[in-house]
Amino acid sequence: MTQALDLLRLLLGKRFPFKFVYSNDYWMLDIGKHVFPVRKYRMIYEKLLLLGARKEHFLPPRPASENDLLLVHSPKYLKKLAAGTLSKDELAILELPYSAGLHKFALLQVGGTILAVETALATGLSVHIGGGFHHAFPEHGEGFCVLNDLAVAVEKILKEGKAVRAMIVDCDLHQGTGTAGIFAGRKDVLTFSIHQMDIYPAEKPESTVDVGLWAGDGDEAYLRELRARIPKLYDEFSPGLVVYLAGADPYEGDQLGGLKLTKDGLQERDRIVIEGARERGIPLAVVLGGGYASDIEDTVAVHLNTIRVAQRAQRMCP
Ligand SMILES: [Zn+2]
Repeated sequence: MTQALDLLRLLLGKRFPFKFVYSNDYWMLDIGKHVFPVRKYRMIYEKLLLLGARKEHFLPPRPASENDLLLVHSPKYLKKLAAGTLSKDELAILELPYSAGLHKFALLQVGGTILAVETALATGLSVHIGGGFHHAFPEHGEGFCVLNDLAVAVEKILKEGKAVRAMIVDCDLHQGTGTAGIFAGRKDVLTFSIHQMDIYPAEKPESTVDVGLWAGDGDEAYLRELRARIPKLYDEFSPGLVVYLAGADPYEGDQLGGLKLTKDGLQERDRIVIEGARERGIPLAVVLGGGYASDIEDTVAVHLNTIRVAQRAQRMCP
Protein backbone atom coordinates (compact mmCIF):
# COMPACT_ATOMS: atom_id res chain seq x y z
CA MET A 1 0.00 0.00 0.00
CA THR A 2 2.73 2.41 1.02
CA GLN A 3 4.64 1.46 -2.11
CA ALA A 4 1.55 2.11 -4.26
CA LEU A 5 1.11 5.51 -2.63
CA ASP A 6 4.76 6.33 -3.17
CA LEU A 7 4.44 5.38 -6.82
CA LEU A 8 1.33 7.54 -7.19
CA ARG A 9 3.14 10.47 -5.56
CA LEU A 10 6.05 9.95 -7.91
CA LEU A 11 3.77 9.97 -10.96
CA LEU A 12 1.89 13.05 -9.80
CA GLY A 13 5.17 14.70 -8.94
CA LYS A 14 6.20 14.12 -12.55
CA ARG A 15 2.98 15.62 -13.78
CA PHE A 16 3.62 18.75 -11.74
CA PRO A 17 7.39 18.91 -11.53
CA PHE A 18 7.36 22.27 -9.73
CA LYS A 19 5.54 24.08 -6.96
CA PHE A 20 2.64 26.48 -7.14
CA VAL A 21 2.22 29.37 -4.75
CA TYR A 22 -1.40 29.93 -3.80
CA SER A 23 -3.53 31.17 -0.96
CA ASN A 24 -7.22 30.53 -0.51
CA ASP A 25 -7.40 34.07 0.86
CA TYR A 26 -6.74 35.48 -2.63
CA TRP A 27 -10.26 34.92 -3.82
CA MET A 28 -11.89 35.93 -0.53
CA LEU A 29 -11.27 39.60 -1.32
CA ASP A 30 -14.56 41.47 -1.60
CA ILE A 31 -14.43 44.27 -4.18
CA GLY A 32 -18.09 44.09 -5.11
CA LYS A 33 -19.08 43.93 -8.76
CA HIS A 34 -15.79 44.62 -10.52
CA VAL A 35 -14.06 43.73 -13.79
CA PHE A 36 -11.11 42.32 -11.78
CA PRO A 37 -11.94 38.59 -11.54
CA VAL A 38 -10.80 37.60 -8.05
CA ARG A 39 -12.61 34.30 -8.55
CA LYS A 40 -10.12 33.20 -11.18
CA TYR A 41 -7.53 32.28 -8.53
CA ARG A 42 -9.86 29.75 -6.95
CA MET A 43 -10.98 28.43 -10.35
CA ILE A 44 -7.39 27.77 -11.43
CA TYR A 45 -6.69 26.04 -8.13
CA GLU A 46 -9.73 23.80 -8.48
CA LYS A 47 -8.86 22.92 -12.08
CA LEU A 48 -5.37 21.95 -10.98
CA LEU A 49 -6.81 19.65 -8.31
CA LEU A 50 -8.92 18.01 -11.01
CA LEU A 51 -5.79 17.58 -13.11
CA GLY A 52 -4.14 15.66 -10.28
CA ALA A 53 -2.34 18.32 -8.26
CA ARG A 54 -2.25 17.59 -4.55
CA LYS A 55 -1.91 19.73 -1.45
CA GLU A 56 1.85 19.28 -1.38
CA HIS A 57 2.12 20.99 -4.78
CA PHE A 58 0.87 24.28 -3.31
CA LEU A 59 2.98 26.52 -1.10
CA PRO A 60 1.02 29.00 1.01
CA PRO A 61 2.52 32.49 1.10
CA ARG A 62 2.97 34.72 4.13
CA PRO A 63 2.19 38.45 4.00
CA ALA A 64 5.24 40.44 2.90
CA SER A 65 7.13 42.03 5.77
CA GLU A 66 7.45 45.79 6.25
CA ASN A 67 11.22 45.51 5.65
CA ASP A 68 10.68 43.80 2.31
CA LEU A 69 8.04 46.32 1.21
CA LEU A 70 10.36 49.19 2.11
CA LEU A 71 12.80 47.94 -0.55
CA VAL A 72 10.39 49.54 -3.05
CA HIS A 73 7.60 51.46 -1.34
CA SER A 74 7.76 54.63 0.73
CA PRO A 75 7.01 54.54 4.48
CA LYS A 76 4.39 57.25 3.92
CA TYR A 77 2.45 55.19 1.37
CA LEU A 78 2.66 52.01 3.48
CA LYS A 79 1.36 53.91 6.49
CA LYS A 80 -1.60 55.31 4.53
CA LEU A 81 -2.40 51.85 3.20
CA ALA A 82 -2.38 50.28 6.64
CA ALA A 83 -4.47 53.06 8.16
CA GLY A 84 -6.91 53.25 5.26
CA THR A 85 -6.26 56.95 4.75
CA LEU A 86 -5.69 57.04 0.98
CA SER A 87 -7.09 60.23 -0.55
CA LYS A 88 -10.02 60.33 -2.95
CA ASP A 89 -7.64 60.92 -5.86
CA GLU A 90 -5.42 58.03 -4.81
CA LEU A 91 -8.40 55.72 -4.67
CA ALA A 92 -9.63 56.96 -8.03
CA ILE A 93 -6.42 55.98 -9.82
CA LEU A 94 -6.19 52.70 -7.91
CA GLU A 95 -9.64 51.80 -9.27
CA LEU A 96 -10.36 49.44 -6.36
CA PRO A 97 -12.46 50.06 -3.27
CA TYR A 98 -10.32 50.26 -0.12
CA SER A 99 -10.89 47.82 2.73
CA ALA A 100 -8.74 46.15 5.38
CA GLY A 101 -9.20 43.04 3.23
CA LEU A 102 -7.61 44.78 0.23
CA HIS A 103 -4.58 45.68 2.35
CA LYS A 104 -4.27 42.08 3.49
CA PHE A 105 -4.71 40.82 -0.10
CA ALA A 106 -1.95 43.10 -1.36
CA LEU A 107 0.52 42.05 1.36
CA LEU A 108 -0.20 38.39 0.73
CA GLN A 109 0.20 38.76 -3.04
CA VAL A 110 3.64 40.33 -2.58
CA GLY A 111 4.55 37.54 -0.15
CA GLY A 112 3.40 35.09 -2.81
CA THR A 113 5.67 36.45 -5.52
CA ILE A 114 8.59 36.55 -3.07
CA LEU A 115 7.98 32.87 -2.28
CA ALA A 116 7.62 32.03 -5.98
CA VAL A 117 10.93 33.71 -6.79
CA GLU A 118 12.71 31.96 -3.91
CA THR A 119 11.23 28.63 -5.02
CA ALA A 120 12.30 29.21 -8.62
CA LEU A 121 15.85 29.93 -7.49
CA ALA A 122 15.89 26.72 -5.46
CA THR A 123 14.18 24.41 -7.97
CA GLY A 124 14.37 26.05 -11.41
CA LEU A 125 10.72 26.94 -11.87
CA SER A 126 7.61 27.96 -9.95
CA VAL A 127 4.16 29.33 -10.73
CA HIS A 128 2.41 31.89 -8.55
CA ILE A 129 -1.36 31.63 -9.00
CA GLY A 130 -1.48 35.35 -8.41
CA GLY A 131 0.86 38.34 -8.62
CA GLY A 132 1.68 40.65 -11.51
CA PHE A 133 0.68 44.01 -10.00
CA HIS A 134 2.96 45.95 -12.28
CA HIS A 135 1.20 49.36 -12.17
CA ALA A 136 2.05 50.01 -8.51
CA PHE A 137 4.65 52.76 -7.91
CA PRO A 138 6.71 53.39 -4.75
CA GLU A 139 4.39 56.19 -3.57
CA HIS A 140 1.01 55.12 -4.91
CA GLY A 141 -1.08 52.34 -6.45
CA GLU A 142 -2.69 52.39 -9.89
CA GLY A 143 -4.95 50.33 -12.13
CA PHE A 144 -5.92 47.54 -9.66
CA CYS A 145 -2.31 47.34 -8.40
CA VAL A 146 -1.76 48.23 -4.73
CA LEU A 147 1.81 47.02 -4.18
CA ASN A 148 4.40 46.02 -6.79
CA ASP A 149 5.04 42.35 -6.02
CA LEU A 150 7.43 41.95 -8.96
CA ALA A 151 9.67 44.81 -7.88
CA VAL A 152 9.72 43.85 -4.19
CA ALA A 153 10.59 40.22 -4.95
CA VAL A 154 13.38 41.19 -7.37
CA GLU A 155 14.87 43.79 -5.01
CA LYS A 156 14.85 41.25 -2.19
CA ILE A 157 16.75 38.52 -4.00
CA LEU A 158 19.26 41.02 -5.39
CA LYS A 159 19.83 42.46 -1.92
CA GLU A 160 20.30 38.98 -0.49
CA GLY A 161 22.81 38.16 -3.23
CA LYS A 162 20.75 35.24 -4.57
CA ALA A 163 21.10 36.67 -8.09
CA VAL A 164 23.31 39.34 -9.58
CA ARG A 165 21.01 40.27 -12.45
CA ALA A 166 17.26 39.78 -12.83
CA MET A 167 14.98 40.20 -15.83
CA ILE A 168 11.26 40.93 -15.76
CA VAL A 169 9.43 39.75 -18.87
CA ASP A 170 6.09 41.56 -18.85
CA CYS A 171 3.66 40.10 -21.38
CA ASP A 172 0.55 41.63 -19.85
CA LEU A 173 -1.64 43.55 -22.28
CA HIS A 174 -0.80 46.78 -20.46
CA GLN A 175 2.63 48.37 -20.31
CA GLY A 176 4.48 47.64 -17.05
CA THR A 177 4.46 51.24 -15.84
CA GLY A 178 5.33 50.86 -12.15
CA THR A 179 8.01 48.24 -12.72
CA ALA A 180 9.55 50.27 -15.56
CA GLY A 181 9.64 53.40 -13.38
CA ILE A 182 11.06 51.62 -10.33
CA PHE A 183 13.95 50.04 -12.22
CA ALA A 184 14.70 52.92 -14.61
CA GLY A 185 18.43 53.36 -15.12
CA ARG A 186 19.36 50.16 -13.30
CA LYS A 187 22.08 47.94 -14.69
CA ASP A 188 21.15 44.88 -12.62
CA VAL A 189 17.50 44.69 -13.67
CA LEU A 190 16.27 44.44 -17.24
CA THR A 191 12.59 45.25 -17.73
CA PHE A 192 10.95 44.03 -20.93
CA SER A 193 7.36 44.95 -21.75
CA ILE A 194 5.31 44.00 -24.80
CA HIS A 195 1.92 45.68 -24.73
CA GLN A 196 -0.86 47.50 -26.54
CA MET A 197 -0.02 51.18 -27.06
CA ASP A 198 -3.44 52.80 -27.57
CA ILE A 199 -5.01 51.91 -24.21
CA TYR A 200 -4.41 52.55 -20.50
CA PRO A 201 -2.00 53.74 -19.21
CA ALA A 202 -1.61 56.94 -21.21
CA GLU A 203 1.82 57.67 -19.74
CA LYS A 204 4.29 54.85 -20.11
CA PRO A 205 7.63 55.21 -18.29
CA GLU A 206 10.37 53.61 -20.39
CA SER A 207 11.24 49.98 -19.74
CA THR A 208 14.72 48.78 -20.70
CA VAL A 209 13.02 47.33 -23.77
CA ASP A 210 9.49 48.28 -24.81
CA VAL A 211 7.59 46.72 -27.69
CA GLY A 212 4.42 48.62 -28.52
CA LEU A 213 1.67 46.98 -30.54
CA TRP A 214 -1.65 48.44 -31.69
CA ALA A 215 -5.30 47.46 -31.58
CA GLY A 216 -5.94 44.63 -34.02
CA ASP A 217 -2.41 43.22 -33.92
CA GLY A 218 -2.58 39.46 -33.46
CA ASP A 219 -0.48 36.33 -33.08
CA GLU A 220 1.81 36.98 -36.02
CA ALA A 221 2.99 40.47 -35.11
CA TYR A 222 3.26 39.61 -31.42
CA LEU A 223 5.17 36.36 -31.81
CA ARG A 224 7.49 37.80 -34.45
CA GLU A 225 8.60 40.45 -31.93
CA LEU A 226 9.03 37.97 -29.09
CA ARG A 227 11.01 35.48 -31.19
CA ALA A 228 13.32 38.24 -32.38
CA ARG A 229 13.95 39.65 -28.92
CA ILE A 230 13.58 37.26 -25.98
CA PRO A 231 16.30 34.66 -26.79
CA LYS A 232 18.73 37.46 -27.66
CA LEU A 233 18.00 39.31 -24.40
CA TYR A 234 18.48 36.11 -22.39
CA ASP A 235 21.85 35.53 -24.07
CA GLU A 236 23.10 39.11 -23.85
CA PHE A 237 21.87 40.03 -20.35
CA SER A 238 22.38 36.56 -18.89
CA PRO A 239 20.01 37.00 -15.93
CA GLY A 240 20.24 34.83 -12.81
CA LEU A 241 16.44 34.97 -12.57
CA VAL A 242 13.51 35.68 -14.87
CA VAL A 243 10.16 36.79 -13.49
CA TYR A 244 7.54 36.24 -16.17
CA LEU A 245 4.27 38.14 -16.00
CA ALA A 246 2.03 35.90 -18.12
CA GLY A 247 -0.94 38.24 -18.43
CA ALA A 248 -4.08 36.69 -19.86
CA ASP A 249 -5.37 40.01 -21.19
CA PRO A 250 -3.74 40.10 -24.66
CA TYR A 251 -6.40 37.46 -25.44
CA GLU A 252 -8.80 38.36 -28.27
CA GLY A 253 -11.84 37.97 -25.99
CA ASP A 254 -10.60 40.43 -23.37
CA GLN A 255 -12.87 43.31 -22.40
CA LEU A 256 -10.06 45.79 -21.70
CA GLY A 257 -7.92 45.36 -24.78
CA GLY A 258 -7.76 45.24 -28.54
CA LEU A 259 -4.92 42.80 -29.20
CA LYS A 260 -6.15 39.75 -31.04
CA LEU A 261 -4.09 36.93 -29.67
CA THR A 262 -5.63 33.49 -29.83
CA LYS A 263 -5.25 30.89 -27.09
CA ASP A 264 -2.74 29.06 -29.32
CA GLY A 265 -0.84 32.28 -29.91
CA LEU A 266 -0.66 32.94 -26.17
CA GLN A 267 0.61 29.43 -25.56
CA GLU A 268 3.33 29.96 -28.14
CA ARG A 269 4.21 33.22 -26.34
CA ASP A 270 4.58 31.21 -23.11
CA ARG A 271 6.79 28.69 -24.88
CA ILE A 272 9.17 31.35 -26.17
CA VAL A 273 9.55 32.92 -22.72
CA ILE A 274 9.49 29.83 -20.48
CA GLU A 275 11.34 27.29 -22.62
CA GLY A 276 13.84 29.96 -23.66
CA ALA A 277 14.79 30.53 -20.03
CA ARG A 278 14.78 26.88 -18.94
CA GLU A 279 16.82 25.74 -21.97
CA ARG A 280 19.49 28.17 -20.80
CA GLY A 281 19.24 26.97 -17.20
CA ILE A 282 17.83 30.29 -16.00
CA PRO A 283 15.47 29.98 -12.98
CA LEU A 284 12.04 31.34 -13.82
CA ALA A 285 9.06 32.37 -11.70
CA VAL A 286 5.74 32.73 -13.51
CA VAL A 287 3.07 35.08 -12.19
CA LEU A 288 -0.47 34.99 -13.55
CA GLY A 289 -1.53 38.62 -13.96
CA GLY A 290 -4.24 40.44 -15.96
CA GLY A 291 -7.19 38.76 -17.66
CA TYR A 292 -10.64 40.26 -18.09
CA ALA A 293 -12.30 38.08 -20.71
CA SER A 294 -16.10 38.42 -20.93
CA ASP A 295 -16.19 34.73 -20.07
CA ILE A 296 -13.99 34.09 -17.01
CA GLU A 297 -13.49 30.51 -18.24
CA ASP A 298 -11.41 31.92 -21.09
CA THR A 299 -9.13 33.76 -18.67
CA VAL A 300 -8.74 30.57 -16.62
CA ALA A 301 -8.03 28.54 -19.78
CA VAL A 302 -5.27 30.93 -20.87
CA HIS A 303 -3.63 30.68 -17.42
CA LEU A 304 -3.90 26.89 -17.43
CA ASN A 305 -2.23 26.80 -20.84
CA THR A 306 0.67 28.75 -19.36
CA ILE A 307 0.92 26.13 -16.62
CA ARG A 308 0.94 23.36 -19.27
CA VAL A 309 3.86 25.03 -21.03
CA ALA A 310 5.66 25.27 -17.68
CA GLN A 311 5.07 21.55 -17.04
CA ARG A 312 6.54 20.63 -20.40
CA ALA A 313 9.51 22.95 -20.06
CA GLN A 314 10.37 21.65 -16.60
CA ARG A 315 10.17 18.06 -17.79
CA MET A 316 12.49 18.83 -20.69
CA CYS A 317 14.91 20.96 -18.68
CA PRO A 318 14.60 20.04 -14.99
ZN1 LIG B 1 -3.21 44.13 -17.80
